[in-house]
Amino acid sequence: MKDLDRYLARRRASLRARAILTDGGCLEVGGYADPLTGYVYAKFRGKTVYAHRLAWELENGEIPADMQINHHCDNKRCIRVSHLYLGTHQENMDDGKERNRFKRMFGERNGQAKLTDQQAAEVRADGRSQRVVAESHGVSRSAVQLIKAGKRRKA
Ligand SMILES: [Zn+2]
Repeated sequence: MKDLDRYLARRRASLRARAILTDGGCLEVGGYADPLTGYVYAKFRGKTVYAHRLAWELENGEIPADMQINHHCDNKRCIRVSHLYLGTHQENMDDGKERNRFKRMFGERNGQAKLTDQQAAEVRADGRSQRVVAESHGVSRSAVQLIKAGKRRKA
């Protein structure tokens, strides 16, 4: 048992050593990410696993078979255990839908520039019609609507 504890402590330390602390408080792990899911790979006992799942398991024990590890912070590279939570697949899908909806509105998906806080402030201050404001700032009308309503998420 002692050996296992030592092994787990070493694995925690080496995973932590791969990660950097971001301004947002995330522990972002480097390395190769799954091109489909965006999650970063890690090795554990000779097996390839996801780093965020490993981080959670090293702290809390095995993830139940029908559950998965979701991110509070929406940062798939984040392995900070306090940013992770045990959830169902459906919860994660619901979260993802909500976020994608926002991304589409703010044009990230169609190659338009993301608005900085400064630009968002300009949009809010712009008294012209939503259509004109949207065109001159290169964002959708729904984005303008949300920004003016103060509901825009911080990028
Ligand atoms: Zn995080």
